[in-house]
Amino acid sequence: MKYSKLFGKTSKTVLHDADSVNARLLTQAGFVDQLMAGVYTYLPLGLRTLDKIKQIVREEMNAIGGQEILMPALLPKDLWETTGRWSDPGPEVMFQFKGRGEREYGLGWTHEEIVTPLAKRFVSSYRDLPFAVYQIQDKFRNEPRAKSGLLRGREFSMKDLYSFHANLEDLDRFYEQAAQAYQRIFQRCGLAALYVEASGGAFSKYSHEFQVLTESGEDIIFHCEKCGYAQNREISEFADGDTCPKCGGTMHEGKAIEVGNIFRLKDRFSTAFGLTYTGADGQEHDVLMGCYGIGPSRVLGSAVEVHHDERGICWPKEITPYSAQVIAVTGKDSGANAKVLETCEQLVQDLTITGLEPLYDDREGVRAGEKFADADLIGLPVRIVISEKTLAQNSGEWKLRTDEKLELVAVSDIVGNLQRFFRK
Ligand code: ATP
Ligand code: MG
Repeated sequence: MKYSKLFGKTSKTVLHDADSVNARLLTQAGFVDQLMAGVYTYLPLGLRTLDKIKQIVREEMNAIGGQEILMPALLPKDLWETTGRWSDPGPEVMFQFKGRGEREYGLGWTHEEIVTPLAKRFVSSYRDLPFAVYQIQDKFRNEPRAKSGLLRGREFSMKDLYSFHANLEDLDRFYEQAAQAYQRIFQRCGLAALYVEASGGAFSKYSHEFQVLTESGEDIIFHCEKCGYAQNREISEFADGDTCPKCGGTMHEGKAIEVGNIFRLKDRFSTAFGLTYTGADGQEHDVLMGCYGIGPSRVLGSAVEVHHDERGICWPKEITPYSAQVIAVTGKDSGANAKVLETCEQLVQDLTITGLEPLYDDREGVRAGEKFADADLIGLPVRIVISEKTLAQNSGEWKLRTDEKLELVAVSDIVGNLQRFFRK
């Protein structure tokens, strides 16, 4: 991709009034554009990053047998009355409004009320269980304070998976599998997420949250530095410095962002909608359910909160929008410039063929310093500079975003080097 053609550019205006680090950097670097509090447009760089995160989520959900579906976001009132959630939490959380003929609707903020009656259409016997379906969709929540950039949107991306089981053992088995899939997702997204005991609602003792420790987090958790055991303060009786009940280490209090949450719903929704199955014993039983949520847009915001420095974003490898920033540095000598541009074009072509999509800063009349600053702000993991000076040694200058070391790499080795870098 040529930077000169990219829709959405970096901005030199420092957004002093931005509500958070992720909002400031993502806006300044040209990833997102705020429409109103908690609602953002994804520009090409932002959408590529969000899509990479969604793809990781999709791969890991498919790997545990999840089947992707897509439910509507526009939902009828009656299903929500069945569970009582039209009025509690009601408009506190759900955007509700009237359409034609005074019919009432709401926008989806979670989908148990849709997926349970849907499952009922296809489940009759124990042979139809277990199964799990998920979707990746924009959710809407009437959040009172949407002021943390992508961390707390009023419209935001969510993956919600729902699992259906014949008995508690099978629900527990799948719950563990889902928890492991979640750990892989966060690892791949460059986030160290703690597995945290949290409020389980009315149905089980605990749910589990996946929490990323960072100062910009809104949650407070207690976590053991030795074994990683953790609890949300909301349900916890720990104090800072307490002894870890699991390993004898020390529990520390810390701020964290909740990036995922998994629940055993058991029969809460199956009872409400009459979702039952006939067992091998010929009797009718309630189907038991689990639900598993993760916020790709919040993951994106969290990655920026965790991976940045004073110059800009530092993307983790697997979610970076492009692999490397190729920068052409030109000077006064038009003959030398032609050679620089020609080398860059060829390199970009070679990288593209191997599937390593680069971002090529081909801008003319822009100082090298400005191109470097933009590269740091956008934050691709690798920067490759081609200039008259580097070409005098048939090389390009290779630099990692998170390392100040400059290295000359033969032009003919750059593709191989980058392939190795991304494979590691
Ligand atoms: P919070 O406590 O932060 O408000 P929640 O517990 O209400 O979140 P869940 O219903 O568990 O959220 O949603 C599942 C996942 O969706 C969360 O773990 C988070 O990653 C994401 N998520 C929830 N609310 C938002 C939001 N307003 N903006 C962005 N992502 C969100
Ligand atoms: Mg939650």
